[in-house]
Amino acid sequence: MKHTELRDILHRIDHKGYPAYKDTRGRYEFPEFTLSIDHVQGDPFASPSKVSVLLSGKRAGFPEDLWKETCRRIALQDYLLRQFGRRIEKVSFKAKGSGKSGLMSVSRPGQEVLSRSACEINKDSGDILLRMEVGFPANGRTVNSRELEKILFEFLPECVKGALFYKALPAKEIADWVNLASDQQYIREQLKELGLTAFVADNAILPRESGVSGKPLGQAVPFHSPKSLEVTMELPFKGTIKGMGIKKGITLIVGGGYHGKSTLLKALEAGVYNHIPGDGREYVITDDTAVKLRAEDGRSIQKVDISMFIHNLPNGKDTKAFITEDASGSTSQAANVVEAMEAGAGVFLIDEDTSATNFMIRDELMQRVVHRDAEPIVPFIDRVEELYRNFGISTILVAGSSGSYFHKADCILQMDKYEPVEITEFAKEQAKQFPLPSTSIAEHGQVNFTRKVLRDKSFLDDRVKIKTMGRDSISVNREIIDVRYVEQLVDSEQLSALGYLLKYAYTNLVDGKKTMQQVVDMLCEQLEKGGMANICGGSYLPCNFAMVRRQEIFACMNRYRKLKV
Ligand code: ADP
Ligand code: MG
Repeated sequence: MKHTELRDILHRIDHKGYPAYKDTRGRYEFPEFTLSIDHVQGDPFASPSKVSVLLSGKRAGFPEDLWKETCRRIALQDYLLRQFGRRIEKVSFKAKGSGKSGLMSVSRPGQEVLSRSACEINKDSGDILLRMEVGFPANGRTVNSRELEKILFEFLPECVKGALFYKALPAKEIADWVNLASDQQYIREQLKELGLTAFVADNAILPRESGVSGKPLGQAVPFHSPKSLEVTMELPFKGTIKGMGIKKGITLIVGGGYHGKSTLLKALEAGVYNHIPGDGREYVITDDTAVKLRAEDGRSIQKVDISMFIHNLPNGKDTKAFITEDASGSTSQAANVVEAMEAGAGVFLIDEDTSATNFMIRDELMQRVVHRDAEPIVPFIDRVEELYRNFGISTILVAGSSGSYFHKADCILQMDKYEPVEITEFAKEQAKQFPLPSTSIAEHGQVNFTRKVLRDKSFLDDRVKIKTMGRDSISVNREIIDVRYVEQLVDSEQLSALGYLLKYAYTNLVDGKKTMQQVVDMLCEQLEKGGMANICGGSYLPCNFAMVRRQEIFACMNRYRKLKV
């Protein structure tokens, strides 16, 4: 339909009851773009209406080289979304009325560059699709379509013109934004070539402004690689860059309290994502399968084979298929380790601060007093080498209080007033005087990953209700999935995506025969093929999804308390 017809509809329904707005649903050709009203809210206080803007690639005029390659396209999408968001913010609530009248909003990305349903560029045509929310204006509960006319015919076209056309935007800034993504991608590929698990560039700013802000701390001490770990790379755009390369194997980060150990580890956790220019961690890149592991008392565990760490429990429970509704510190961390193996993690990131001590180590005195036979836990320290040797999984571990890991580490870093110093030789020499108790622990060998996911009848009903509570939890049919301690989830939109992925898995894939790995593999395949559109079904795609890794999909499924295997 032509946009003039939308105007006619708006004039016709003015002052009618709010449901009359439903007549506006449809697609309308505007001079510069196509407007699609995908979903209309039921009343002015309900969640706002869903509107999308489609702009042809030809008109938008972005050179192909900015969007042909996937990583560059994701960066350009992110850039456009931010531009558009900045403009939308200025006109939001300029149209007035009751409830959410006049609201205009799009996703607000943080420091990470994630692929999002809010802005998608077609990889063949370069067409730009932008999804947003608009509160259709009302007086009380009657339609105020004059105000909606302002939004759709004035504010929105202005924002589109200012934010989605190449000509209207600073070319250099866009090129820098997109080129950074190529450089980041290059570093990530180089990690594999060079046998590294992570790279931290010189001059990176690691600490954040505060516990609730992702922005860089002002006046921070910039990072500098110790000479012995220095790696040089030739990036396609930035050129030569130097920094610290963390090799595969076992890396220990030690140092006094408050010297920046956890800050370094946090930066490595975040390094599975790309960061925006100005973040400080632009060139801090970690193997993209790396998983942060921690204790998580109280979580549920469904038939996870934690026998490599825990056996002979006093209550006789089977630890080859361990079940609990309320895990202890050590069993939760054991399950987190094994589930991360199941999810294909190539690197474990562990901070002593958030670990169960009895899971990590046992000192000699304790071993003498409490005999091994009376201790169900084989601590992580006795498995960390096997994990690398037999499973190819590297560990980067922060430890401030126990020297035991000196014996196991291939590389030891000391954080000294926020400066890393390599002390491997010195620490190894010192460690000789404190040998580990000579107990021989047999290799564990295979871990069982064959648990099959059983059907869940709460998904039989078509109307599965999915809600997210910030960055903390997802509610699926009122069942709360607590993901607070899945620390590499960084954005509430990732939680929305996870909710829908879980629903898709249960309604389309789970049949009682497929293993957890098979279910998640198939989910990832679907995502790869058709993105979230493939997962959601329905008449329109919600505007609030952000990309998640397979590791977080596993984490979400594993924390669903109705999971039965
Ligand atoms: P640790 O884990 O060694 O006890 P943290 O990593 O928690 O120490 O850091 C302690 C404090 O120092 C934090 O408030 C952090 O923001 C700050 N900090 C960390 N790295 C730097 C840095 N490079 N420059 C300035 N402050 C930093
Ligand atoms: Mg710490």
